Amino acid sequence: MSINPVMPVYGRCEVAPVRGEGAYLFDAGGTRYLDFAAGIAVNALGHSHPHLIKTIQDQAATLMHVSNLYLIPGQTAVAERLAALTFADTMFFTNSGAEAFECAVKTARRCQFVLGHPEKFRIVTFKNAFHGRTMTGIAATDSDKMRGGFEPLPDWFTVLPFDDLAAVQAFMAGPLASEVGGFMVEPIQGEGGVRPASVEFLQGLRDLADEHGALLIFDEVQCGVARTGHLFAYQYFGVTPDIMAIAKGIGGGFPVGACLATEYAAQGMVVGTHGSTYGGNPLAMAACGAVLDVVATPEFLENVRRMGDRLRQAIEQMIPNHDDLFDSVRGVGLMLGIKLHSDSRAFVNFARSHGILTVAAADNVVRVMPPLIIDESHIREFVERLSAAARAYAAPPAQVAA
Ligand SMILES: *Cc1c(COP(=O)(O)O)cnc(C)c1O
Repeated sequence: MSINPVMPVYGRCEVAPVRGEGAYLFDAGGTRYLDFAAGIAVNALGHSHPHLIKTIQDQAATLMHVSNLYLIPGQTAVAERLAALTFADTMFFTNSGAEAFECAVKTARRCQFVLGHPEKFRIVTFKNAFHGRTMTGIAATDSDKMRGGFEPLPDWFTVLPFDDLAAVQAFMAGPLASEVGGFMVEPIQGEGGVRPASVEFLQGLRDLADEHGALLIFDEVQCGVARTGHLFAYQYFGVTPDIMAIAKGIGGGFPVGACLATEYAAQGMVVGTHGSTYGGNPLAMAACGAVLDVVATPEFLENVRRMGDRLRQAIEQMIPNHDDLFDSVRGVGLMLGIKLHSDSRAFVNFARSHGILTVAAADNVVRVMPPLIIDESHIREFVERLSAAARAYAAPPAQVAA
């Protein structure tokens, strides 16, 4: 018996990509896959984007890493750009989404502390949320699957129903309201099944936060970085948070995350309160800058919106032909979810044999998250392959019933 040299925590499939080009992945045998998973919303520029490659190569040959003990001009430059493009006055760079979430929580807690409100330690989160796999990240969910075997966990998160403003209003009229220091929400839930919040819900949270001296925190780790056709999802919804966690797409495949905040919300984050060895190093910041060069233009964002509409329409038109399998399509921009009548995991596995890569999410949803550089031809190919997969999948009734 041999032990797996990598902890077997992932349910991996058999696909082993060795090379990528634009919206395609290739395995060692030359089999081509249309990649509408994009590394789970990470490969915003697709694979092997020339500008990203050149920027990383040049930076790697110049200076890869120095500690945050030293000035990092590239880090300041990216922060200035992101601040100019968003609500944020200041930010902290991380290597992952979970760390960006962690920093967002710490920022809110420290803000309440220095404001003289240490009793406002509670953070309200929402059902089906996903905030990463650290102890704090899983403490912020009520998922037994993620929490099992790790309890006791921090108990100062309260999980309320998602997109249900009345439930939050009721909680804030109750005895624990005075403990609430922040509301943490994904404007569009990703892992939870591509569920966009309503504008009314997000605006309601904004109003409750203001009324109760709490901070509004958005986890845009998955829905941010141009995926909605707006640089950040909060700009699509028109509701502005005080703190925002981002990651995934911002490095285009290089591990980068960030916690953005207003000056007010970040007032507690002074010397010694937080840190990271790698976060914001010159190589990561070069990658981040290259991604912003491409995505932070009106033309690029307009194209994401246009492609998002086309892709959604194409899927909508296909659904009636396979209504035994597909229920509906939802989402914003190029963050779409197809709801199935049956288990989405089984269909995502099956679709791979038809050359398309997607990601399963909760609620029987197939996540469709292509690189943001796709054009009409990719959409046509995707829908053709998806239809073929659906036809073949529907054929043996046993599989549909599974
Ligand atoms: C992926 C994700 C995270 C965690 O990011 P990691 O880089 O895997 O740590 C947190 N929040 C949301 C909304 C995510 O989609």
